[in-house]
Amino acid sequence: MSRDRSLPIFDLEIDLAAAVSNENARVVIEAPTGSGKSTQVPQFLLDSGLCGDGEVYVLQPRRLAARMLATRVASERNGSLGDEVGFQVRFENAVSANTRIRFVTEGILLRKLMDQPDLATISAVVLDEFHERHFFGDISLARCLEVQKTLRPDLKIIVMSATLETAALKSYLGDDCRHLISEGRTYPVEVAYEPPRERHKGELWDHIARVIRDYLKVNGVDGHILVFLPGRYEIQKTASALQRTVGSSFEIHELYGELPPGKQDAAVSKSSRPKIVIATNVAETSITIDGVTLVVDSGLERRSAFDHRRGITTLHIEKISQASASQRAGRAGRTTKGAAIRLWSEREHEQRAPATAAEVQRMDLTEAILILYSSGITSIREFNWFEKPDRAALDEAMLRLIELGALSRDEQLTPDGRKISQLPVPPRFGKVLLEAAKGGYLDYLALVAALTQARPLFPLRRRHSDHLMPEDFAQPDDISDFQALARAWTQMKQNDFRREIGERLGIHAGASRDVDRITKQLTRIADRWGFGSGSFAEPDNEALAKILLSGFSDRLAIRHNQSTLTCAVIGGRRGQVEKDSVAGDKTCRTFIAGEMIEVEGRDLTVKLGLCTRIEETWLQELFPDAFEKKEGAVYDERSRKVEARLEKRFRDLVLETKPGGEVPPEEAATLLAERVLSGELNLKKWDGKVEAWFSRVNLVAENCPQYEISPIDEESKQLMLEQICAGGISYKQIKDRPVNAVIKEWLPSHQAGVIDHAAPESVILSNGKVVRVHYSPDEKPKISVLIQHLFGLKDAPTICEGKVPVVVEILGPNSRPVQVTENLAGFWTGSYPAVRSQLRGRYPKHDWPEFE
Ligand code: ADP
Ligand code: MG
Repeated sequence: MSRDRSLPIFDLEIDLAAAVSNENARVVIEAPTGSGKSTQVPQFLLDSGLCGDGEVYVLQPRRLAARMLATRVASERNGSLGDEVGFQVRFENAVSANTRIRFVTEGILLRKLMDQPDLATISAVVLDEFHERHFFGDISLARCLEVQKTLRPDLKIIVMSATLETAALKSYLGDDCRHLISEGRTYPVEVAYEPPRERHKGELWDHIARVIRDYLKVNGVDGHILVFLPGRYEIQKTASALQRTVGSSFEIHELYGELPPGKQDAAVSKSSRPKIVIATNVAETSITIDGVTLVVDSGLERRSAFDHRRGITTLHIEKISQASASQRAGRAGRTTKGAAIRLWSEREHEQRAPATAAEVQRMDLTEAILILYSSGITSIREFNWFEKPDRAALDEAMLRLIELGALSRDEQLTPDGRKISQLPVPPRFGKVLLEAAKGGYLDYLALVAALTQARPLFPLRRRHSDHLMPEDFAQPDDISDFQALARAWTQMKQNDFRREIGERLGIHAGASRDVDRITKQLTRIADRWGFGSGSFAEPDNEALAKILLSGFSDRLAIRHNQSTLTCAVIGGRRGQVEKDSVAGDKTCRTFIAGEMIEVEGRDLTVKLGLCTRIEETWLQELFPDAFEKKEGAVYDERSRKVEARLEKRFRDLVLETKPGGEVPPEEAATLLAERVLSGELNLKKWDGKVEAWFSRVNLVAENCPQYEISPIDEESKQLMLEQICAGGISYKQIKDRPVNAVIKEWLPSHQAGVIDHAAPESVILSNGKVVRVHYSPDEKPKISVLIQHLFGLKDAPTICEGKVPVVVEILGPNSRPVQVTENLAGFWTGSYPAVRSQLRGRYPKHDWPEFE
């Protein structure tokens, strides 16, 4: 296949060669998707003759893109994949000694730096799709800059992007960075908004089928259609909905990461028949499908993130940003004018985020930090981040690595840490493999780790009549969910991973084969540590649990109650254990969760999966310092007393509580105060008057900021109540306690004076009458006044130095409310004449003057 020399990027070929011909070459290339960046720029570099005999590394954020681009470029150069042009991703590659252009995923270069700190065999690094701001892309760039500055002035660094925050990037890359721009060629795309209508409340895929059918009725077919959806499940559903409606006139293709390569290629390749490609966001900028004239965008993507505060991975369906939506729409205007239909409203579009936050702010940092240390950096605190991660996230990750023994307390790489970093798996699994190697169980635990890194063996989420599920491979005395999975996999291996067998058992043959490959790669690396080659000995229950515990002690969970599947996890976290898990058994109390994922179904649930039961004695043995005995207290509802408890904790997880010890006085006060605040207990003197005082303070705090009075919130009330309850342990002891002293002292005395003047207890009307003001938390300040006392009064009184009008409740002669108003003047001219004639009939003896 020959190259398409009409691609706009060819305009930059000469400029690029000039820009990289000198030392310290740093180039930013900005060109729209489809210009030819990913396929052509690596070839320009190689063909310029400026790369000597080094390789061109092209960093891609996605595995699928790395493979497809390599295939495409190899064929454009009339070669075969893995020869001059190849690719390498975690656990998979097609490269050889001849390889000069290597498409890699972003982690690969960082790992390369561990063996080759000067990147000696690499001439140029191209960071593609940099606008997506993937975490490994960010730190790869930082490391490349450092290598160029210190060891390799001849290393060429090229950053490519479809859209760019170029200002920030240029200042990061320094003054002598070159900037090449190609406007590309794009045609107008007409955008329409078609949110699902109320009366069509069905599923998303039915809506998509309807939208496409309606569009075709009006516009006919004049190109391919590209549909964006969050993931495989929605894609498959949409494919069958479309098959039913417009299947006769279109080829329908799916495109997502886990799809077999052949099908991925088919979705992208040229086709004379009109086709519909239903894709995830890989088709947003990574992969171009030619001839698309209609884009249908669900506006959603499945985004995996790491919540460092809770230490869990989240997999949510999120709304894409405005920037992503315009990239997606742009796919329809590559070859001729096109149309895009967004399945949300224009109003909602305006409220969406302009761009997606960089991944550095939502990633588990542990693996990257360990790789960085292992490739030679000495302090992560001084790292030259393109965008700094959140401080707390960094601290958290460092703590995890110290707990795993990969870093020392003074944040230096340990010998174990170096070994762990060599394994292309999360550090906690690295630690597990290290312990396994020491104990002679390497192969088995490498299998366990591989099972978590490959696609799932059991792809069906729900039980299917004649398919097996993991628990069908479980045995009654299993201690870990991994054992059943390992047995299922072993059965596939014994059958040479044959597809028919897989289909019969409901086990994915391809995934099983991947697990085999990954297991071998992991053992190959670990064998170099010299603990003796792994045998396939299966550890006994206790050995297995202890090895896993070494990497997962921060995932210790406890079931407090056998009737529910809800568990408490270290770090104040909660989750649901799956009922088919070994930890779902009623006899299980403590366990570790191999997987902790928050998923979005009807609600958000944190699922605890791949569990292993843990005995307390093993915790004692492995982590003797992590235990703590604490005197605690609980409030007993029946006796209305705080009672003493002795707690045994593992880190912050309470393993056991029993009566005994002394009640810590502060805790008693806190517990009692909480009950008073929630209304469960009543203090006699904590009454309406107190609430009125709080309302006055808050009114002044809000309306007269110049006095800098802080409002009294729930937390302040809790603190006041703790002072009031101090020293007591039972309701009986506190219920009659005085409250005024504490409340009055809450504000400094000069501020208390301000309250009396700005939100006074009573106001004087202009006719000399003194009336009380009613203050309460949920209402505006109010006075209630007999109508006769208001005659002659033009305006309602105000408080807070004229800023807040007081609501006037007008009472009739019988003291019943006649009207409530904030606008007294309006009352006299508006409703008073009618009120007057009515009241005059009922109370003829009173005087009823007329006002005009
Ligand atoms: P960019 O990186 O600027 O988005 P690419 O280099 O990926 O551009 O693609 C340039 C053009 O090459 C595409 O518009 C498409 O025509 C063609 N192309 C790239 N990859 C493939 C492929 N796998 N199959 C068919 N055509 C492809
Ligand atoms: Mg590209």
